[in-house]
Amino acid sequence: MSSSSSTTSAVLLNTGVQMPLLGLGTYKLVASEDVYRAVDAALVAGYRAFDSAAVYRNEADLGQALKQLLPKHGLTREDVFITSKLGPEDQGERAMEGALRSLAQLDLGYIDLYLIHWPGTQGLVVADQRNPGNRAQSWVMLEELHAQGKLKAIGVSNYTPAHMRELIQSCKVPPAVLQVEFHPRLCQTELRSVCEEYGVCFQAYSSLGKGELVTDPVVMEVAKHCERTPAQVLLRWAVQQGVPVLPKSSNPDRIKDNARLFDFTLSDTDMDRLSALDCGHKYCRDSSEVA
Ligand code: NAP
Repeated sequence: MSSSSSTTSAVLLNTGVQMPLLGLGTYKLVASEDVYRAVDAALVAGYRAFDSAAVYRNEADLGQALKQLLPKHGLTREDVFITSKLGPEDQGERAMEGALRSLAQLDLGYIDLYLIHWPGTQGLVVADQRNPGNRAQSWVMLEELHAQGKLKAIGVSNYTPAHMRELIQSCKVPPAVLQVEFHPRLCQTELRSVCEEYGVCFQAYSSLGKGELVTDPVVMEVAKHCERTPAQVLLRWAVQQGVPVLPKSSNPDRIKDNARLFDFTLSDTDMDRLSALDCGHKYCRDSSEVA
């Protein structure tokens, strides 16, 4: 993985592979021309990671865009880090089929990181006692594809501390990454310490609070005195703690702007002011009730 650009700063996963601290989120990027334009702008701006999922219905468009754009930017498959996720409808006995479908849709030879998207199973109520067995079965399938080299790293998303401990106790291959919602209003202290204890990389999603946090008065004040945008402040707050981020934008100017994270530092006072916003607020679905 190239490290010539300041936007390719990376974290070391427990697989021994580096994962960029900055990746482009792609949730809600659906039309193929929108995916192409966003990936083009992101590659120019220095992004080397892209986060997709079976449920985003954009794996094929992302793979296609990369196949066209990597040569245009003088890059190869090995220069980028691709994440996708097993949909809740494929949790359990259909996991192998689901992961193979993601591999076929992306059509990039292998997937750098493949996550179980959600601890539950589509069609089961959250308290259903079949949920733990289903996610354990999914993990075994992912371990098999990992052993075959098709999924270079495997991990989970939206797992609670209890789901993490259950997985760590039963797995052969430990999860490389836990991807969860993380921003100043949701500091996830317990999950971060579980990840630290087990050597799992803690990765943030919805760092901008789905766009809503850019108008938070404290975020705006910090941005003003740092002469940065609120989005840069929110993203810098995470990466300065070593937490990888995945800001999503369909707008080329914002994609470029959101990547300017590695040429400034937030003071301890500003970091503390932002962290003090923690109130457990979730912009996304809560998985804490999933059995
Ligand atoms: P986000 O990145 O927090 O926010 C995206 C929103 O902010 C979009 O509406 C975007 O609008 C806007 N935005 C982007 N840059 C901005 C800027 N500089 N100033 C103002 N507004 C800006 O939200 P997210 O999409 O929920 O999370 C990011 C990524 O994380 C997703 O795309 C996905 O890849 C991943 N994710 C994973 C899970 C999971 O369950 N594993 C859940 C949620 C998200 P425009 O597009 O119009 O710029």
